[in-house]
Amino acid sequence: MAVLEVLVYPDARLKQKSRPVEEFSEPLLHFIADLEETMAAGPPSVGIAAPQVGRFERILLVDVSCKPKIKSHGRLIMINPEITDKEGNIVGREGCLSVPDYTGNVARWERIEVTAFDKLGNRHVYSMEGFEARAVQHEMDHLDGLLFLDRVVSRRDGLFRRKVYGKKSSETDSRRS
Ligand SMILES: [Zn+2]
Repeated sequence: MAVLEVLVYPDARLKQKSRPVEEFSEPLLHFIADLEETMAAGPPSVGIAAPQVGRFERILLVDVSCKPKIKSHGRLIMINPEITDKEGNIVGREGCLSVPDYTGNVARWERIEVTAFDKLGNRHVYSMEGFEARAVQHEMDHLDGLLFLDRVVSRRDGLFRRKVYGKKSSETDSRRS
């Protein structure tokens, strides 16, 4: 296993669209293990997407279980995810491993149904809401070459500079993903 380098804005590769995974094989499992290790090694975060480490395939990892008061599915690996239903709209604060100096307010679907494959190629349908739904939408944006900076509600008053990079105590509302 290895900790991979995380691409940081304004690296142009973050704008690249990722292709679907076609083969569920041993190299995929190795890559997912590396992605998990990379997420664990970095500053506190609730998700990471393959293109953030320069692999342009539709793979993401989300885990919001660090927030004990919200409903979640625990650690989720989603491959070729598709939103199949959506409802509501809510603005919330987001951070990103690839945008280390800022957080921003972004509008997302409040509830979503997502279809995705796990690392063994089994198809699942997830219903999720709130922060977990937000994290998945944020990671899915990475697969299409979008950052939260592209969606922030207002460049003037919807973008916030982080006070201290990597300081854990201030991360509760703006964990990176
Ligand atoms: Zn991100």
